[in-house]
This record gives sequence, C-alpha cells and structure tokens, in this order.
Amino acid sequence: MRVIILTPYPEMFPGALGHSIIGNALDNKKFSLETINLHDFGIDKRGSIDDQPFGGGPGMVIRPDVVENALNSVLFNSKSIRKIFLTPSGQKLTQNILQELSQHTEMVILCGRFEGVDQRVIETLGFQEISIGDYVLSGGEIAAQVLVEGCIRLIPGVLGQPQSLLEETFSNNLLEYPHYTRPQVWEDNQGNKHEVPEVLTSGHHEKIERWRKDKSIEKTKTLRPDLFKKGI
Ligand code: SAM
Repeated sequence: MRVIILTPYPEMFPGALGHSIIGNALDNKKFSLETINLHDFGIDKRGSIDDQPFGGGPGMVIRPDVVENALNSVLFNSKSIRKIFLTPSGQKLTQNILQELSQHTEMVILCGRFEGVDQRVIETLGFQEISIGDYVLSGGEIAAQVLVEGCIRLIPGVLGQPQSLLEETFSNNLLEYPHYTRPQVWEDNQGNKHEVPEVLTSGHHEKIERWRKDKSIEKTKTLRPDLFKKGI
C-alpha cells in the first residue's frame, strides 16, 4: 500500500509508524509513506495555507486552493485512490473501516489544523471524513498515524502471528479476554501475592477456551454493552 500524507507538519512522520511492527513493515516495503508539505503550496512567500473563516468566528481555515495544488502534485498509480480527511466531525473509525481501507493500494490522508479545512475541498475533491474518536486533538497528524497503523497491521504478512487478528478485540463484537504471563505467582512491592487463574495452567485446552470466552463476554457486557447488543 502507498500512503500519502498531506500535512503542514511533515516532520511529524513517520513518528510512531517508524517503530516496531509497522516500522519493520515500512523497512520491508509492505507499505510506503510519503509526506507532502502543505506549506510548499502556500499562497505567499511565507507559505501561508490558511485564512479567516467567512461568517466570522475564531480560528483559521485551511484554504481549498492550497489543498488542491498539494493533491495535484501527487502522481497516482491507480484510479481507485482513497482520499481521507481526518476530522472529529467525521464518521467514527472502526475495525471494519480499517479492514476495508487495508484492501486499497493507494491512500491519501489530509491532516487538518486550526478550525479545519474549507468544506469545498471535501465535497469537490472527494475526501471521506473520518474521526478517530469523540474528542478533539489539535491536528490530524496523530490521527493519521492511528489510522495508518491500524490499517497496515491488517495487510497479510505484516503481523508475525496473523492468528492474533482472529481473536483480538472487536472480532465477533467482543472485547478480548485478559492475558497473564510469568511469574505464575507475582508478589507486588507491598508483599501481596497475586496468582494466575488456575484454569490457565491446567493444560486443559477446552476449559481454557471456555474460560476465555466467558471472560470476553463478561468484559464486553460490563465495558461495552453497545457492542454486546450487536450480537456475537
Ligand atoms: N473545528 C473542528 C471541530 O470542531 O470539529 C476541530 C478542529 S481540530 C482543533 C484541528 C484538526 O485536528 C482537525 O482538522 C483534524 O484534522 C484533527 N483532529 C482533531 N480531532 C480529531 C479526531 N477526533 N479525529 C480525527 N482528526 C482530528
């Protein structure tokens, strides 16, 4: 997959995308990451990209001509390019959306700043508005890294153990069961001892599977009743 980021802060990339599993995927060319600096398409010598909102109000808005010129500077290889504008007022990102995005070969992500981007850009240039959650950040760069990381790990060959994708949170509308590792009995700094649930050390695979499913259901009912209602 080819990922192109339009941003006023290209130096924020690859950021988290340059590390661990996703960093390896980048090194191994499972995906490529390009940044386009919106300031290179600014309207004056200072590289200004924004202006005051029509109708008044606080903040600044990124100009449509700047975004269009930045987008036109990209040479696309395919016709089915996904264009995403990250905004808290967009459709909320889900695992299903990530699954769908991970099938594409080219994706352009526009990162907003200030009050956001002129609405005509979104409508005319065909950007899909996506939010990474019900909270407001100051820019789209971290949101872009969230989206790209979530997407790239779904590409076959990126995860060492693809089996983990089948069992993790959100598969079957359930949150994942809790995990435990060594030591079997952990003594904390106050001298209290905490044991691993006995069933996990029993070696009885059916019982372990049942226990994990029960824990998954219990946790989902408590923390995410909305997910549970959708059905397993
Ligand atoms: N005025 C906007 C509003 O009320 O919806 C908020 C703009 S925010 C301060 C600046 C930029 O940060 C946005 O254009 C967007 O690119 C990014 N951003 C902030 N929160 C986000 C979220 N939850 N999901 C995706 N992008 C977000």
